[in-house]
Amino acid sequence: MKPMEPAAFAAAGNSINYADMLLLRFGEFTLKGKNRTRFEKTVLRHVKEILVPYPKVQLTKEFGRIYVKLNDEPAQELLYALKNVFGIASISPVKVSRSELEDILDVSARFLNIIAPAPGTTFKVNARRVWKEFPYGSIEMNKLVSTPLLKGYPGLIVDVNSPQLELRVEIRQEQTYIFCENIAAVGGFPLGTNGKAMLLLSGGIDSPVAGWSSMRRGLAVECVHFYSYPYTSELARQKVIDLTRVLSRYAGVIKLHLVPFTEVQTAFTGIGQDNLIITLMRRAMLKIATSLAEREGALALVTGESLGQVASQTLPSMNVIGRATPLPLLRPLVMMDKSDIVELSKDIGTYDLSILPYEDCCTLFVPKSPTTNPNLRIVDKIEATLPNYSALLDAAVALTETMEITPYGNERPESKAGTDERMKEEWF
Ligand code: ATP
Ligand code: MG
Repeated sequence: MKPMEPAAFAAAGNSINYADMLLLRFGEFTLKGKNRTRFEKTVLRHVKEILVPYPKVQLTKEFGRIYVKLNDEPAQELLYALKNVFGIASISPVKVSRSELEDILDVSARFLNIIAPAPGTTFKVNARRVWKEFPYGSIEMNKLVSTPLLKGYPGLIVDVNSPQLELRVEIRQEQTYIFCENIAAVGGFPLGTNGKAMLLLSGGIDSPVAGWSSMRRGLAVECVHFYSYPYTSELARQKVIDLTRVLSRYAGVIKLHLVPFTEVQTAFTGIGQDNLIITLMRRAMLKIATSLAEREGALALVTGESLGQVASQTLPSMNVIGRATPLPLLRPLVMMDKSDIVELSKDIGTYDLSILPYEDCCTLFVPKSPTTNPNLRIVDKIEATLPNYSALLDAAVALTETMEITPYGNERPESKAGTDERMKEEWF
């Protein structure tokens, strides 16, 4: 996977341009023992997948951390991609020096020149002697490193409690790591560690954001999209494939189920209850998605609904629609403002696709005044009296086409052989 455009989350400062290595820190999983191991392994697998197009990179794993040695691969690109791996809380660009005093002082001085702190910046050195044979202790090293730096930058103000700039020096036997920036990454739970759900993915702004939010909580998702050929076009279908591809950057591979919905929709048009059509369509979607979830072993449905946004998203509507499925119905955006959802969709890279003006199957049959307060008894009665209704739903499930979407195109990369050999250490 190459870096995402636009880049999600805060950009790095200067030190990235000087880095030999990226230090990835796991989020606080609040888990111990076996579960923690499983979570860390999942993050590692995801990181390895991202590194496939960068063959020179080397990985090392330590408790709570992953080190990515760059070996001249592009630091900025890798930073953007790795910041989006769920379960990684922060990343530090690291400069590596030999574990010899002279070299450490030299690299620290050059490191500070790259950072170029403004006069008045508060500062401290935080040295840690991990390798106990190193001749100077941690406290001694704080002094040895900071003295020449303060001479070179007289505008720096020492603050040992909460400095703006903290130069970390970790002295290990093989090498010393020097870093100062702690760049916030996406955090959350490693993908798939909280089970799997079916995401109802329209071509709109909301549902891709709901999908990303679910994945960030550790849910693997499969996407379900309803289309109404020939009323919806090939372009609308391609748009959903492209949206799934953006989501797959965060997941490696995502299944997309394309459900033919024309027959089901047209069954609703002749019943003389136009204001209930949206309610009936949404319920039909949930019923079909439930069948697919059962088939695929998913334990919940996810939608992009947000309270009050449109007529089908008032509380009475959500109540009547939600009863169509026995599965937990997750609505990650339910309390979010539209403007925040739009921001998030820009960050995760789905916005530009979502605003393409291709029709959704629901917009085709929208009545002039959809109800905001549907009556469950009437809805139940309509569904019970529609001829062959359950057979119609079953047929839609049977005719569903499934694709596997990857960030690379329709296929998985040819071979991932070699990735494992790049692991320098085995652990767990
Ligand atoms: P979105 O921006 O996700 O389309 P929306 O605010 O436009 O959401 P609706 O069009 O009312 O809201 O749809 C509500 C939810 O129903 C969507 O977020 C999505 O989860 C699901 N949905 C709507 N249309 C489709 C479709 N054609 N295929 C799959 N799911 C759909
Ligand atoms: Mg929509």
